[in-house]
Amino acid sequence: MNEHQRRLLTAAGLTELRFDAPMSECCTLRAGGTAAALIDVQSIEELRRLLALLTDEEIKFLVIGRGSNLLVTDSGYSGAIIRLKGECNALAVQERGPDFALVKAGAGCALGKLVSWCGGQGLAGLEFLAGIPGSVGGAVRMNAGAWGQETGALLFAIELVDKDGRIRQISVDALRLSYRNLALADGELGSSILTAAWFRLTADEPEQIRSRCAAYLERRKGKQPAGAASAGSFFKNPPGDFAGRLIEAAGLKGASCGAAMISPVHGNFLVNTGDATAADILALAEQVQAEVFARFGIRLEPEVKIIRDESCQ
Ligand SMILES: Cc1cc2nc3c(=O)[nH]c(=O)nc-3n(C[C@H](O)[C@H](O)[C@H](O)COP(=O)(O)OP(=O)(O)OC[C@H]3O[C@@H](n4cnc5c(N)ncnc54)[C@H](O)[C@@H]3O)c2cc1C
Repeated sequence: MNEHQRRLLTAAGLTELRFDAPMSECCTLRAGGTAAALIDVQSIEELRRLLALLTDEEIKFLVIGRGSNLLVTDSGYSGAIIRLKGECNALAVQERGPDFALVKAGAGCALGKLVSWCGGQGLAGLEFLAGIPGSVGGAVRMNAGAWGQETGALLFAIELVDKDGRIRQISVDALRLSYRNLALADGELGSSILTAAWFRLTADEPEQIRSRCAAYLERRKGKQPAGAASAGSFFKNPPGDFAGRLIEAAGLKGASCGAAMISPVHGNFLVNTGDATAADILALAEQVQAEVFARFGIRLEPEVKIIRDESCQ
């Protein structure tokens, strides 16, 4: 991003704009380079205004949620990283039948807040997301799942804003949902930004919903490294197997590279034990891929989105 573009962004009256923002502060792995600009938009209108400027100026952009499935390489990102805040966090029941309801959730909303709010409303279905530290937008984009359930199964529709500021509502029939991915029936999401999702939920007693959430949280304890900086499961599970099982069977639990380590608790959690760089984490991930391939002939694919900006090399 050149000086002229920085001046234009500064003059654009954005609510929250930071230049050269460390991405280690924006993602749960607590590593990575800086983003030329980090912009927190407070409303869809602010987002559309920003996209118009970025598109006119040909500034690349990337929307992120809570950064819990993301790693920006140490050389950084030369464009604008956008986060959805304020109005983009709103939750509302939009339609209620005798035993179901449609909930509209803003893409910036934290999953924990959505899950507990739905519990309070007596609306069931999303409990399996308890303990996943992402946002609604990130969970829908990644089709986040746990305990045999996936976000996409409860989706009714999504709202997208494209790079030209066009808002579209797309029903679930026009989406292609697969393991840890969401695409449109006619292609990838590309640079479109998810601004909201509608979930179809069923009615239940708040107490029952809360106790299911508590049970899911309990199941996570002991299976995952508590409090460690990670991005959850680093690799996707290969068909019919578990990445964590393969990594453990390859004897890699506890292996490290700099301050990046394979968690001794869960083989598929790569944790940052202190001041790991993105390079440490990626070198460890490559070591895992090489060893697992050598032992089992299986190529593990990262689930974590690695953001490599060629223009920063
Ligand atoms: C301790 C821990 C446990 C976890 N457990 C699970 C689990 O059980 N199951 C699971 O599936 N995942 C799990 N994860 C991974 C992660 O939390 C989920 O994938 C989550 O849904 C990511 O949400 P996010 O908002 O952090 O997305 P980010 O990491 O910020 O972004 C992930 C991707 O989504 C895109 N994106 C984000 N927001 C939008 C948007 N509004 N519009 C378009 N694209 C967007 C980003 O560009 C990026 O490509 C875990 C992570 C941690 C740290």
